[in-house]
Amino acid sequence: MKRRETDESPRFEDLGLSKHMLKAIRNAGWESPSPIQSAFIPIALEGEDCIGQARTGTGKTGAFVIPILELIDPEIRHPQALVLTPTRELCQQVADQAELLSKHHDMRVACIIGGKSIHQQVETLKRGATIVVGTPGRLIDLMNRHVLDISKLDLVVLDEADRMLDIGFRPDIEKILRRCPEERQTLLLSATLPLPVEKLAQRYMKNPQKVDVSTGDIAPSTIDQYYIAVDQDRKLPLLVKLLAKLKPSQVLVFTRTKRGADQLHAVFARKLSRVACLHSDLEQRKRDRVMKEFRSGELRMLIATDVVGRGIDVSTVSHIINYDIPESCDDYVHRIGRTGRMSSSEAGQAYTFVTRDQGDELTRIEVRVNQVLHAYQVDDFEAVKPRESKRPPAEIRRYGS
Ligand code: AMP
Repeated sequence: MKRRETDESPRFEDLGLSKHMLKAIRNAGWESPSPIQSAFIPIALEGEDCIGQARTGTGKTGAFVIPILELIDPEIRHPQALVLTPTRELCQQVADQAELLSKHHDMRVACIIGGKSIHQQVETLKRGATIVVGTPGRLIDLMNRHVLDISKLDLVVLDEADRMLDIGFRPDIEKILRRCPEERQTLLLSATLPLPVEKLAQRYMKNPQKVDVSTGDIAPSTIDQYYIAVDQDRKLPLLVKLLAKLKPSQVLVFTRTKRGADQLHAVFARKLSRVACLHSDLEQRKRDRVMKEFRSGELRMLIATDVVGRGIDVSTVSHIINYDIPESCDDYVHRIGRTGRMSSSEAGQAYTFVTRDQGDELTRIEVRVNQVLHAYQVDDFEAVKPRESKRPPAEIRRYGS
């Protein structure tokens, strides 16, 4: 969805932002605020704690980066804002947006993630970073080395809180939050608000206001969603046929496991160029390179697992293929959120492969996104073999009666 200005469009000018900020936003090419930005920014600017329910792709990063840039003092050279993110890729994207929007603010942004040289990060922090964006593990490492001091923070952001808890970061997050000053502002962004996220908010936030732009947006109208019934052993030929038919300009294929991603990649890499795979066992340098190539359009096909695939913010992804049905409905929402994105003018398409025994999972997804997925069939391809009838043939039945 490309944001276009109409007479009724909300305006950044009405959100109480400084001239510097408005200029940076204009330079970024953003014409009007997205719904989460319109709702979230004024509350955050008031210094209130706020929970924003919005998925990636709706402009949620800008919703918290803009207030951070407005609220902190660039003259003070110690960390004033800390953003916790679940994955390295997402962390880099948040840091990039902070850089993009801080052109006129003279901020120093440190991106603190595992898999990258810790010495460089130590140097960045020593030089005086004002905004620190990081994944919990490396942040704690640097706190323990007394390089990162979070005792004077004004603002903490928990980005994609649901995903951080899903992947087991709760103890780390709590460790970090306990070391933050009591007097601080806390912002939380999450695509979904399951009980563990609510509990975290209750414990560490003060009277948070809630902004929910996810209703009706859970399955964005910019995404056409289909399912394809398939036998487990027909999935690979189905994928080959489907790709040949759709000829996607850029496709993201999700598998449930790293091994599954590797296996699929091995098959396609033999036949196609411009295909890569992304999961957490790959070394960080490789992950960065793959993301860069995917973002630039050099790669046409990326095979990824949920944990890393989720943070991918690439506006050119035209098709999502769930080679394996996601483990949870939330994962489904996150996966399909990789296409039909704000900065893209094209509608995205999402295809989910469903085997016979996964009917219930499909139903749960449909309930979650509040719409029925359309059945899709690839012409001249038998994705499901007819079930062998358990009933005896008609002649035998007739003979018995
Ligand atoms: P996010 O949901 O934060 O991952 O943002 C998704 C994409 O939308 C990013 O590439 C942003 O640069 C872009 N974006 C964010 N806010 C706006 C806006 N108000 N207008 C146009 N593009 C935006």
